[in-house]
Amino acid sequence: MVPDPRIAVCPGSYDPVTLGHVDIITRAAGMFDEVIVAVVNASVRKNKTLFDADERMAFIEHATAHLPNVSVDTFDTLVVEYARRRGAKAIVKGLRAISDFEYEFEMNQLNRRLAPDVESVFVMASPQYSFLSSSGIKEMATFGGDIRDLVPEEVAERLQEALAR
Ligand code: ADP
Repeated sequence: MVPDPRIAVCPGSYDPVTLGHVDIITRAAGMFDEVIVAVVNASVRKNKTLFDADERMAFIEHATAHLPNVSVDTFDTLVVEYARRRGAKAIVKGLRAISDFEYEFEMNQLNRRLAPDVESVFVMASPQYSFLSSSGIKEMATFGGDIRDLVPEEVAERLQEALAR
C-alpha cells in the first residue's frame, strides 16, 4: 500500500515574499512530499497589503518554479481549517527571533486546541536572513535602500514601482 503523501502548509501574508521565506519553503520541500504555500487573503492581524493576493502568489510561484513539489494557493479561513481541507498534517513556519517565538507559541496553543491532529513545525531562520521581514523590506525600499540580495529580482523591481506611486 502506498502511504498518504506528507503534506505541509506554509502560511503567511508574503507581502512580498523575501529570500527568507524562500529559504524556509525550500527546506520544507526537502522534508515533505508536498508543500502548499498558503497566502493569507484577508488578515485580521495586519493592515492592508501593498500587493494584492494574486500578485503575492505570482511572486512566490516564480521564486519556487524550480521546486516541483511546491504549489501556491490563497486562503481566508483559520490556518488549521485550511490545512485539514488540503489533507496537510503539518503547518511549517520560520522562526527568526524571540519575538517570533512568543507569537508563534501563543498561536500554536490556540491551534492545538482547535486541531490536535495538525502539528506545527518550526524551522530556524538561516543566519543571513534572520533579520529579514517583509515590513523591513518595504521600509528599506521606501528609502531607497539596496534590497537586491534579500528578495527575488522581480520583487525588487515591482517594489520600486509600487513605492514610487
Ligand atoms: P512577515 O513576518 O515577514 O510579514 P509572513 O507573515 O509573510 O512574514 O510570514 C510567513 C512565515 O515566514 C512566518 O512563519 C514567518 O515567521 C516566516 N518568516 C518570515 N521571514 C522570515 C525569514 N527571514 N526567515 C525565516 N522565516 C521567516
